[in-house]
Formats: sequence, structure tokens, C-alpha cells
Amino acid sequence: MRMNHQEKAYSPLETAWSYESTEQKRTSFMSPSLRTFQAYSKPLVLKRGQGQYLWDVHEKKYVDLMAQNLCISVGYNHPLVNSEVKKQIDLMAHCTTMYFQPIPAHFAEELVGRMPAGTDWVVHFVNSGSEAIDLAVLMARVFTGNFEMVALRNCYHGLQFCAMALTGIQSCRQPVPCAHGIVHVPNPDPYRGIFGDELAPYVDEINRSIMASSPGRIAGFIAEPIQGFGGVMALPPGYLAAAFAITRAAGGVCIVDEVQTGFTRTGSHYWGFQVHAVLPDIIVLGKGIGNGFPLSAVVAKREIAEAMAQKKFFNTYGSNPISCAAGRAVLRAIDEDHTLRNAKEMGDYLKQKLLGLKAKYELVGDVRGSGLMLGVELVRDRIHKEPADVEAGKIAEYARDHGVVVGKGGVFGNVLRINPPLCIEKHDIDLVAEVLNQSFHCI
Ligand code: PMP
Repeated sequence: MRMNHQEKAYSPLETAWSYESTEQKRTSFMSPSLRTFQAYSKPLVLKRGQGQYLWDVHEKKYVDLMAQNLCISVGYNHPLVNSEVKKQIDLMAHCTTMYFQPIPAHFAEELVGRMPAGTDWVVHFVNSGSEAIDLAVLMARVFTGNFEMVALRNCYHGLQFCAMALTGIQSCRQPVPCAHGIVHVPNPDPYRGIFGDELAPYVDEINRSIMASSPGRIAGFIAEPIQGFGGVMALPPGYLAAAFAITRAAGGVCIVDEVQTGFTRTGSHYWGFQVHAVLPDIIVLGKGIGNGFPLSAVVAKREIAEAMAQKKFFNTYGSNPISCAAGRAVLRAIDEDHTLRNAKEMGDYLKQKLLGLKAKYELVGDVRGSGLMLGVELVRDRIHKEPADVEAGKIAEYARDHGVVVGKGGVFGNVLRINPPLCIEKHDIDLVAEVLNQSFHCI
């Protein structure tokens, strides 16, 4: 029998949208490890999004301060992203890099156009942040011929093999031998760090660790300009420049993980590293690059990427044209929607409101971050800084009941994370501030 898909009438698939059904199916058929990363005691069943808002299955509306872990950069259901994606879906869903396809080629050119001028950048598209991190480390090792990578404590770079070994957070590391050749140095954290708010000892530790735990030559150094999952902790001024100088002196390349901080999120520049006036050798992009479509990228100086061209490097879905069509639309939307300006203005406005909460409630130990990447660290007392993780959970639950989705993170689970889509508006922030204000009375 000849199959002609176009002429056949398919019956649409049915979906059961209830909490109970989803819970039962998740428990029965999906991996138990999903339980370790689940928001709220009773998670939301989400149905749709528009701009900075979400609706659950009961049509309850929320202001979304988490943007699906910062994936929704320019807003849910963005008209330009949708139309570019639909155009490509109707042509073909995938085209591997074995053939030529213009969409990824255009996107690479447009992305390079947003990088600091004067450097010959090239782009390698993959599918997730972790995958991009693994590729960046591989590039660094092949290019330098060295092995050890220096990473910061409390960093989060993903949970695949090498990415998990880089990630400096106990709850993220499975108890198995993991990728070796990673040296963790103390993270410069002015609030809780072992050297407080002094810069020099943290920098010195990089040198000491290279002396103690490597042959003296390293493959590279990697850091997030603002540690996101680790608690929204920005690197202090001067740290990245000093770390880069040490790295280069030890033969290594400098990698920034812009998976969270990229694409204007921090409100000061297009990329998080730019506030530090440094030039990285490799830049890792993810999350917001595709506004929710699976996509990530490694942007590297040509000579570094060239070193890998002696052997094959292929991954089946890298450069998927639908994801790249979304990525192209994101870049255009960032320009036309003025997300950099909005991240700055709305971020500053929200930060003032959060500092107001700090002035009012002892529970707020620290307010930090930049643009629309903000964190509120909750502590039981400001002297000993005992992490108020249970309280953070209660605040998140209260906010959810009152129409605000806020994140909870940090190594102690006591940091409220605020990273909305970059299109959030002033009236949303007024609502968020009011709900958070009330939430402190529920503890
Ligand atoms: N780097 C950073 C800074 C991240 O926040 C994440 C994800 N939270 C990753 C890398 C890993 O990305 P993915 O989950 O897409 O593998």
C-alpha cells in the first residue's frame, strides 16, 4: 500500500492536562532523578506563555521571574521567533552539517557580529549548555596540548561528564569518578567567601593551585561572569582580568560561560564579560540564545577552533535549522525590542525595591546581581548568616499562590533568583515587589 502522508487524515493525539495524570505518568514512566530538580511541593502544570507571563492549566496567570531557567530571553510566544520557526518547520525539521544549509551560516555571521570587533571569531552550534561546555574544554585542551582546567567553587557549568566535573557544587556531583583534570579554586564571594571581600587572596589562590595541582601549564580557566545557580554572585571587578593574565602566563585559554549572563541579561552590555573589560578566547552560549528552542554555541577564536579540525567533530543535531531560525530571530528581537535598555531600567528599578525589602526585613541578608539577573539571599541572622532555606521555600510558595513565579537556588537553597524574560514591564515589577513584601509576613 502506498503511503501518501499529505492525503491521509490523521487523528490528533490526546493530552491529559491534569496535575494528577501528569504526576502519575511522570512517576511511572520518567526517571526518578527528575525529582531532584523540581519547583514547589506541588509543581505547576503550565499550559502557555505570552511575553513575561505564564498560565497554568487552570488559566491562573503568573509573572514569570525564572523564564524557564533563563531560556525565555525575549519573551514567550514572541511573534518574530514564532514566524521564523514556522517558516523553517514547513521546509524541513533538520539538516545535518554534512550538507550546506544557509540558516546556521547566517546565524553564525550575525552572532559573530555581536562579538567584540577585531577578533576572528568562529561559531560551533550544539544543543545544550553542558554540551557546549564539554566542547569548549576539549578545544582548550587540543589547542594548548595541556590538560588541567581551573574552575571556581560554586560554579555551575552543567551535568554531563566534563561539565559535571567542572561544576563546583556538591548536590550536582554524582558519587562516581568523574572527568579528571579539574582544579577548583575559591570563588571570590564578598558575602560568604573564605577571604571575604578582598580580591588579592582569591587571585593568589589561582597561582597557588596551578603550582600545586598542575604541571605548571594549564589548558584553561573557566568562569561565569555572574554565578547563577550558585547564588547570583557576580565576579568582583578586577578578578577576571587577573585570572586571565595568570591563565595566559600558564599557557591556558580563557573561557567565559555566558549561558546565563549573555544576550543583554545583565543590563550593562550584550555579554556579561564585557563589564570586566577583558577579551576571552572562548565564549560559551546557551539558554536564552534560542528563546526556548534547544540550542547552544561555542564561539572561539579561529586558531583555537582550527586546532580541532584535524579530527572529526560531529554531533547529529548541532546547527539544527529550526533552532538556528529561532536564534536569528532572538538577535533581531534583542535589537528591536531594546532588551539591553529594558534589562538596565527594569533591573535597576527592581533592585531598588529589593533593597527596600532588605531595609525592612532582617531575613534579607544580601541583594545582588545586575540587570535582570538578581538574587536575594535569605539568612536567619545577619551576623552568622545561617541560610534561611526553609523560609526561601515558603516565600516562593507564597509568591506562586499570589501569581509570581520566583526561583530558589544557591548552594544552600536560600537565594531567591529573579531572572524574568527581558520584556518585563514596570507594572509587573510593582506587583512582584508587593507580593514579595507580603510574603515575608507568611513566615
Ligand atoms: N552553564 C551555566 C551557567 C548554566 O546555568 C547551565 C544550566 N543551568 C549550564 C551551563 C548547562 O546548560 P544545560 O542545562 O543546557 O546543559
